[in-house]
Amino acid sequence: MITLFIKALVDSFLWCFGKNKLSILTYHRVGGTGDALAMDERLFELHLIWIKRYLRPINLAEGLALQAKGILPRGSVAITVDDGYVDSYNIIFPLLKKHNLKATFFISTIGFENGYLWDEKVAFIIMKTKLTELIFDNKNYSLLSDNERITCLTDCLSRIKYKTIAERDALIEQLVIQSQQKEMPQQFLTKEQTVELYKAGMGIGSHTHTHPILLKESAGIALEEIKQSKHILEGIINSPIDYFAYPNGKFGEDFDVTHIEMVKKCGFLAALSTDKGVLKDQKTDGFQIKRFTPWDETELKFVLRLALNYCQ
Ligand SMILES: [Zn+2]
Repeated sequence: MITLFIKALVDSFLWCFGKNKLSILTYHRVGGTGDALAMDERLFELHLIWIKRYLRPINLAEGLALQAKGILPRGSVAITVDDGYVDSYNIIFPLLKKHNLKATFFISTIGFENGYLWDEKVAFIIMKTKLTELIFDNKNYSLLSDNERITCLTDCLSRIKYKTIAERDALIEQLVIQSQQKEMPQQFLTKEQTVELYKAGMGIGSHTHTHPILLKESAGIALEEIKQSKHILEGIINSPIDYFAYPNGKFGEDFDVTHIEMVKKCGFLAALSTDKGVLKDQKTDGFQIKRFTPWDETELKFVLRLALNYCQ
């Protein structure tokens, strides 16, 4: 009964506002990693069930192609997963297969070499070090309790995030020297797992090489970050990489028109931001496509919020 009620409500929204619009969902980590961005595995599966129940899941590439022709079905939703953590393969991929769904994975390629991205390294050191205090960027942190470690971690991540790559590496090195932590656990997709995702029909997209804030870098470094990741991924899957997602992804804060021009110059067909919204017109927004990050834990809230996303 509730299902029918929600369906009628969603259909009426889509009928009024959903013509030729593509909603793109963004996920990051899924599963019990303790990461602030990690979503509970059961909730992720519920999202997949609700998407299938009320909307029309579609591959990103297919959705963009139909939208460009003006014939995208109402309620179309594409799933994207950013960064390339190993739970993309261990948790997200099996659930997508179970529900016969596809997603596009945007990968920062330095993870193939290192086995992690910079934020994982910071998290591992701060949460696992035997030290009971550490100094970071001239500030002292006590690490006596888990809560203090989480406070320290949150503070360090936010202080590092908007640094340049060179400043970021220097700050992380302070943590490595103090903790003597050289070995890191594998947290990232392998090249073989990436090929397996691709062969199973998943999309693979670029998310730069080292996940910098592009706006903080020189034009030369930013272009190299974009180019290098495309080149590495094309070598791995032996096929063109057509889509790009800006790290962090807010227009004006994390990237601007100069990076849009770089992405076009590198030969991508479209690029995705994390600004909230729905795709209405690729001619104007094809290189800053808005996405939607859903966190709602109840069916009604999740589906209604998603339906409202089409009303822009
Ligand atoms: Zn990212």
